[in-house]
Amino acid sequence: MIIGHEKIRSRLDGLIERPEIAATFLFSGPEGVGKMLLAREWAKKILCLGGNCNQKPCESCRIFHAETQNHPDLIILSTSSEGQSGSRRSLKEEEESSTIKIDKARAFMVELSNAPLVSNRRVAIVDSAHLLTTQAANSLLKTLEEPPPATMIVLVTHLPDHLPQTIRSRCLNVSFAPLSLPEFKAVLEQIGLKTEMAPEDLYHLASGAPGQAESQCLPSRTRSLEASKRLFSAIKKPATSLFSELSVMLEDPDEDFFLNSLERYLLDLYRQEGKDPENRPFTIDPIKREMLHDKLLEIRTMSAYNIHRAMNAEEVLLEFREIFGA
Ligand SMILES: [Zn+2]
Repeated sequence: MIIGHEKIRSRLDGLIERPEIAATFLFSGPEGVGKMLLAREWAKKILCLGGNCNQKPCESCRIFHAETQNHPDLIILSTSSEGQSGSRRSLKEEEESSTIKIDKARAFMVELSNAPLVSNRRVAIVDSAHLLTTQAANSLLKTLEEPPPATMIVLVTHLPDHLPQTIRSRCLNVSFAPLSLPEFKAVLEQIGLKTEMAPEDLYHLASGAPGQAESQCLPSRTRSLEASKRLFSAIKKPATSLFSELSVMLEDPDEDFFLNSLERYLLDLYRQEGKDPENRPFTIDPIKREMLHDKLLEIRTMSAYNIHRAMNAEEVLLEFREIFGA
């Protein structure tokens, strides 16, 4: 069962009632928020031949593979990386497989020109559409502007600005917002993600997108989140508590803990930028944040030259004193 995005789903469901429609949609929104999941759910509904499919599935719903969600009338265009993982690839090959090239786009269009096999309609999804090469994108223009009869095309991307304007102007926009906190929690429960991190913290770090949750709750992340939170609260207090917090981090036996935590701290600050100020767990003056960023880059460079961290500690603390005006 899909959780959230109620408005989008009811708008899309409304379109199913009109079988004459053939159009191209652009699903955009945060990575991991559920765009692809919803595109597949919608495809299943579009391809359904009608009837009470929960009780007794129609021919199309029966064929729709529960796990892989494959269906002969659901055509997916994506990068070629799938099926090749595990084998060692050169950098060039990695780069090649991370784009959608013109030959794949052409094959996709050929498939689209055939009549549906099971259903009365067909659905085509371009996953991570921002990975289309310029050539591939150009080759698709005409098809996107005027999809074949009874065909719905969905472009899915978290980076819509990376798509050429010529493509974007041919699509009907569907923009996905982050899930609400209760929805986010419900998805975590559904997928069985266990973490020691507070759901509220995870929600902010994953930008309300469950697909980003897992990478945010690795043990190292949890530990540096704790350090970040202590830093955030220390920054609001007199400078002495900030310095003691930093000294504790400097004494950590993990060589990179200090730098990694500071880096996470900055990244967290950047993540907060677009958010409604009321719901930001932390805020900091952008100028100070930039200064902190520059300082961090400097420290990174110094450690690359094997200058001992402890020797820099005093200097770092002095810099912080300056940045945070204490
Ligand atoms: Zn059905």
